[in-house]
Amino acid sequence: MTAISSPTYIGRFAPTPSGHLHFGSLVAALASYLDARSVGGRWLVRMEDLDPPREEPGAQAAILKALESYGFEWDGEMVRQSDRHAAYADVLNRLFSQGLAYACTCSRKQLEPYHGIYPGFCRNAGHGTENAAIRVRVPELEYHFIDRVQGEFRQHLGREVGDFVIRRRDGLYAYQLAVVLDDAWQGITDIVRGADLLDSTPRQLYLQELLGLPQPRYLHIPLITQPDGHKLGKSYRSPPLAEDQATSLLLRALRALGHNPVIELNDATPREVLNWGIAHWDASLIPRTLTLPEAQLQ
Ligand code: GLU
Ligand code: ZN
Repeated sequence: MTAISSPTYIGRFAPTPSGHLHFGSLVAALASYLDARSVGGRWLVRMEDLDPPREEPGAQAAILKALESYGFEWDGEMVRQSDRHAAYADVLNRLFSQGLAYACTCSRKQLEPYHGIYPGFCRNAGHGTENAAIRVRVPELEYHFIDRVQGEFRQHLGREVGDFVIRRRDGLYAYQLAVVLDDAWQGITDIVRGADLLDSTPRQLYLQELLGLPQPRYLHIPLITQPDGHKLGKSYRSPPLAEDQATSLLLRALRALGHNPVIELNDATPREVLNWGIAHWDASLIPRTLTLPEAQLQ
């Protein structure tokens, strides 16, 4: 009666190639990697290259090289979202033909006074899809979930978000749609990512519900904030991850995640640091917030 152990955990790291990896992305990669490997789970890498105009030339290769030199090993072939357009188009067409999504021709200027909450101008306009954004209708409902670090998070989709874009006017697919379809397609059970995406999660829960997809567990790692509580500005952005600092930056990232790596690891290889992390990972140690001095940016 021995069951073949099947992975009940599939995690992922999903970088956007708009730039290099920096310390914040390392903390996210490390957390998702350790959370997966510490339970014998799979860990995938997915390149979120949905927006070619914002892609930095060479960034994809640089991201993979950085992950490798920091000792990360992923399972299977890396998936690129640029190879998944047919899947996104299928779902988009289905939502549109069912009337669950509609075309919006509002200009940026027209929407400016509404601070990102779409007022529904095009809801019943019946525009064609040509040269229009596609929005999905949201219900007047609050969506909520329990994040493993941040606790309960609630958002009223109608009042706080409004019908949101799933395909942009320039024809590019929106992150919200692609991420939900890919996480389901890849069988992701656990999403570990930065808390900047916390307020995207209710939109993703709604799309999962609408499309009959399973809901993964969520763990949003803290954003690094300044001592006064303000979000880290661009000027604080740390430089690209240097290859020769892999061990020390991994140790720093572990500390930012609430762990206390032993002093002997100072001279260890990146792989040894990761192995220590796998053996000692405890997600309950992750702090909800992180201020600059603790996070010790370079
Ligand atoms: N591609 C997104 C980013 O780099 C992360 C998406 C996700 O983890 O859901 O911010
Ligand atoms: Zn509109």
